[in-house]
Amino acid sequence: MMKSCPLCNTEMSERYNYCYQCGEYVGDTASLVPQSTPEEEQVQQRQERVIHYGCLLLIILWAVFGLWFCVNINR
Ligand SMILES: [Zn+2]
Repeated sequence: MMKSCPLCNTEMSERYNYCYQCGEYVGDTASLVPQSTPEEEQVQQRQERVIHYGCLLLIILWAVFGLWFCVNINR
């Protein structure tokens, strides 16, 4: 049985897990993507929110530091 690489469309035997042309994983992709439960999705959403606010905080800190730097350099 043959399958083809999703990246470069090279045809290869079913026994290959990685494309010998470009190295792309061509094995069983269903086993690679774990089925996520609603609980896991909630945790993921929470983590995304933490990252979101972390970025916001960094931007605010950066802005405050920039202002502080401008004020001090003009003295
Ligand atoms: Zn390939």
